[in-house]
Amino acid sequence: MQALTNRAKEVSREPMTFMERLYLPNIVKGMAITFSHIFKKQPTIQYPEQKREFSPVFRGLHVLNRDAEGRENCTACGLCAVACPAEAITMEAAERMPGEEHLYREEKYAAKYEINMLRCIFCGLCEEACPKDAIYLSETFAPANFTRKGFIYGKNDLLIPNKNTAPEEYAAARGAARV
Ligand code: SF4
Ligand code: SF4
Repeated sequence: MQALTNRAKEVSREPMTFMERLYLPNIVKGMAITFSHIFKKQPTIQYPEQKREFSPVFRGLHVLNRDAEGRENCTACGLCAVACPAEAITMEAAERMPGEEHLYREEKYAAKYEINMLRCIFCGLCEEACPKDAIYLSETFAPANFTRKGFIYGKNDLLIPNKNTAPEEYAAARGAARV
């Protein structure tokens, strides 16, 4: 308590002028600013009916990409996980078996691929690091959730639909994507 008292400092304040004590000029000035905004274009939008234009550099929810033949691009090389500063990505690699060539582009694929959206800072370094064009950040938000577990996105949440087997879902996903 003693130490606090020693640090106490007196702040001198200029006495208020007559005009300041009247308050009215400042009230009029404040109201003038308020009224001047009535005639300006309103910056508010009626979300979610109305959507705001995204900046070209906006980075949203991740998408795991497929190649032109609908095969998964990701080879589970782990470069995205290494590049991730938030340690948000985990994966498990698996070997492609004979007969699975139509599913996976390379001999190795990600049997499990998870991103913890609570950790992610949407920096885009995973996208930069990927040598296979297998991951990119779209223009969609991660929707709200009630549990922490709900923010861990697995491969099923991230993988873009196959354009050959689910063309409508694929088109919808591409519509929300920045590629
Ligand atoms: S956007 Fe950044 S923080 Fe999020 S998963 Fe990718 S590298 Fe990690
Ligand atoms: S998304 Fe790209 S960088 Fe990450 S494991 Fe798959 S291929 Fe490698």
